[in-house]
Amino acid sequence: MTDTPPPTWPARTVPCPACGQPARYAPDNPWRPFCSARCKQLDLGAWASEAYRVPDPTPPAPPDDTPPH
Ligand SMILES: [Zn+2]
Repeated sequence: MTDTPPPTWPARTVPCPACGQPARYAPDNPWRPFCSARCKQLDLGAWASEAYRVPDPTPPAPPDDTPPH
């Protein structure tokens, strides 16, 4: 028996990180903290392109499983 109340999440409005418009930060906004799916996609796209742009400075070392002699 638990008397723990369900987590209350008061809805509030936050500025959308992508466009700055007021976004509803609430459980019923699946794109929070963004204001819309489009803004979320924009942000994800930026992240993806950024990740792809970063080169790996350390080349993968060859497997050292060959005996030296
Ligand atoms: Zn937005």
